[in-house]
Amino acid sequence: MAKTGILIEVENNIVKETSLGVMTAAAGSEIHALVMDADTHTLKDQLAEYGAATIVDIKGDLSKSPDLAAETLAAAVTEYRLDALLGTASSIGKDLFARVAAIMDAPIVSDCLEVNLDEKRVKKSHFSGKTFATLKVNAERLLCTIRPNAIEPAAAPAAGEVVEFDPGLADPGLLKITAVKKEDSGKLDLTEAPVIIAGGRAINGPENFSMLEACAAKLGAAVGASRAAVDAGYAPHSMQVGQTGKTVSPKLYIACGVSGAVQHFAGMKTSKVIVAINEDKDAPIFAKCDYGIVGNIFDVVPVLTERL
Ligand SMILES: Cc1cc2nc3c(=O)[nH]c(=O)nc-3n(C[C@H](O)[C@H](O)[C@H](O)COP(=O)(O)OP(=O)(O)OC[C@H]3O[C@@H](n4cnc5c(N)ncnc54)[C@H](O)[C@@H]3O)c2cc1C
Repeated sequence: MAKTGILIEVENNIVKETSLGVMTAAAGSEIHALVMDADTHTLKDQLAEYGAATIVDIKGDLSKSPDLAAETLAAAVTEYRLDALLGTASSIGKDLFARVAAIMDAPIVSDCLEVNLDEKRVKKSHFSGKTFATLKVNAERLLCTIRPNAIEPAAAPAAGEVVEFDPGLADPGLLKITAVKKEDSGKLDLTEAPVIIAGGRAINGPENFSMLEACAAKLGAAVGASRAAVDAGYAPHSMQVGQTGKTVSPKLYIACGVSGAVQHFAGMKTSKVIVAINEDKDAPIFAKCDYGIVGNIFDVVPVLTERL
């Protein structure tokens, strides 16, 4: 049976749902959950439930040196003879996987939507989501990151045996992280949120985003924005969804007063369910959504929040 390493990301002492989705992508192979800078014993049950045959407790303080973390990850791939290394296309995953690929002189495919490990095939979107490409990787190992929330986690219990791994590598010392500043502390990361409620130009002022935040709090959602809303100064660029903003793939995307321009759609078209609220029944977004409400967002959203 092929062996797959999964880089596990942890938040508040639990495995992120996005990492559980990556484990599900590797179902059918022997999964090695690679855990850095976290307490494997608190994560053990969760990782075993979602298919980890082996939980590799990687020792050392790797959070401050991306180079050391990547060297250590590459060493784990070699040590456990992993046929594939998968992770989330998060800021951590994107950074580390590029480094590991360089260290191992291996090809990498980023931001995939589907993976077939047996055939070393992946599917990803191209040209801002206008086309999908299926790529076959002709290499000894498959290194790939998967778009957050692209794959729904499914339990698949396995042994979850914890092993310690400490290759004792020296820090190349090329780069040191001295501090991590989170812009919106306490808020959900837009790219990883399971639900997103986004405001367009219709939101008509930064103060009106509080209406979306109230609804988001009920839904456990993150709040996003269109470029028109960002350009008008209603929201920071970190909230922008689209071609020149963030690419998201939540289970539910609620677009409030967003017209549905191709550049916005490019960033959210892989959402599982799209709901649009727009007062113009001919708005392009209604041709692209699963459910549409023709109405004024300032009437509809507060009712929605109240009902929730
Ligand atoms: C190179 C390039 C890159 C781009 N990148 C991005 C990107 O990353 N993200 C992005 O979003 N855009 C991007 N754009 C811009 C994009 O083309 C659109 O201009 C933008 O998405 C429009 O934002 P909007 O839908 O909020 O505004 P509008 O197009 O102005 O639509 C506002 C909508 O709100 C509705 N409305 C108004 N008032 C209400 C109300 N009270 N209640 C309900 N509905 C109401 C209107 O009917 C309308 O449909 C890019 C453009 C270019 C050229």
